[in-house]
Amino acid sequence: MTGIELFAIFSGFIIGSGIDAASRRFETGTPWLTHRSRCDHCQRPLRWFELVPVVSWLALRGRCRTCKASIGWSAPLTECAGALAALVAVALTPRDVPYGIIFSLSFGWLLLALAAIDRRHFILPDVLNAALLAAGAIMVAVTKPADWPMHLAGAATGFGLLWLVEIAYRRLRGIDGLGRGDAKLLGAIGAWVGLIGIPSVLLIASVAAIAGTLIISLVQKQSVSGKTPIAFGPWIALAGFTVWLLPPPGWV
Ligand SMILES: [Zn+2]
Repeated sequence: MTGIELFAIFSGFIIGSGIDAASRRFETGTPWLTHRSRCDHCQRPLRWFELVPVVSWLALRGRCRTCKASIGWSAPLTECAGALAALVAVALTPRDVPYGIIFSLSFGWLLLALAAIDRRHFILPDVLNAALLAAGAIMVAVTKPADWPMHLAGAATGFGLLWLVEIAYRRLRGIDGLGRGDAKLLGAIGAWVGLIGIPSVLLIASVAAIAGTLIISLVQKQSVSGKTPIAFGPWIALAGFTVWLLPPPGWV
């Protein structure tokens, strides 16, 4: 492993930490970069040694140093997810693609930010979906400009399919089953994986959402029903990154 690859994985922990902080502050409107991190419970500003990704959480055994309130699993899990995304991006991105690793890292970390905010607030912010779409357009322009029609078709199909599902669900059941953000997310992912990648993304996302929700409900000993709110965004994001790194045969 080269120094650049190690640097990418190390950065993943830091970016994961930033994403977790941003997802916590998303609804309160607290400035993300300029505002000091605080304990969610006693509001004490945190010192630098309490903010070292994963290490601080382990050293403090997941509790605030002063009020002993649980910090929760979200911070170490998001930090590890940031590093894991970097590790698989470095391991699986072909070396002959211009700026391939930079594109894979950008894709993975933007998806992680969307997933973290959706998991916590059931919102996929337009600004992040737009950034994902724009980054996908830049990736196509730099790495395979001749293939742009297939990627444009992927974006349109990804958005269109989930938009139709959203409308159909509301007509049939009279309630919202899917947010418009999910359609925008699949559209942005379609710009990255192209038309041929969309069926795989939808299949993996659906299977992972059902299996993952059942496993989480068993672990947390909660029952799930047709009315339990489930954030679909994290599963779409996971499927999109999987298909990007392990493309189906005949992929363009
Ligand atoms: Zn505290």
